[in-house]
Amino acid sequence: MPRKLPDALSAVVDQLARLPGLGPKSALRAAMTLLRWPEGETRRFGAAVYDLRDRLHLCPQCGALTDVTPCSLCSDPARSRDMLCVTADWDSMLTIEAGGFYSGLYFILGSLPVAAGAGDDGADLRRLDERVAGGEIKEVVLALGATVEAEQAESLLCARLRRRLPDLCVSRLAQGINLAQEVRFVDRDTLRQSFKYRQHLEYFNPRPASSAE
Ligand SMILES: [Zn+2]
Repeated sequence: MPRKLPDALSAVVDQLARLPGLGPKSALRAAMTLLRWPEGETRRFGAAVYDLRDRLHLCPQCGALTDVTPCSLCSDPARSRDMLCVTADWDSMLTIEAGGFYSGLYFILGSLPVAAGAGDDGADLRRLDERVAGGEIKEVVLALGATVEAEQAESLLCARLRRRLPDLCVSRLAQGINLAQEVRFVDRDTLRQSFKYRQHLEYFNPRPASSAE
């Protein structure tokens, strides 16, 4: 019968084993590594995990995780303020940002909006309404991916935005990305092309903003 781990060690191993890519054996190895570190380093590791909860919050403007308000990207004076890229999640925003080809602002949806009455409380849509109100944003790029759900969400968002702001230009990423692929998994060059050849969603669209090459 395997020997039972001390409770303090077992508690850490059990939590580490819940992380993606870590099974019970690798979780035990990781926990033993933490124990072998100098005490100060192990304590700093623990404090950093605490800080994830204590110091991070969602940026009220874009919805990204941040420890300052607004986040460093929203407050960056070098960013173009006339273009807003809407992504489904933070991972997608980071993927686009890593490409280095987009210099506008972002808006992260908490979840893909669905038709009214199908489980969406509309909070994300109201946040987006507030974000584009005021007239500073000239173009909204919907970068939600090529899944069926994403396309439905893009149609819904486009109709809603154009109804409220008829002069707003609304575009979506070009179909260089594969069907059923999420933005966060698209390689950088494909994403750059999708941005460059983004599709404007209505024929009589106002002139797009110029924050993407
Ligand atoms: Zn922000």
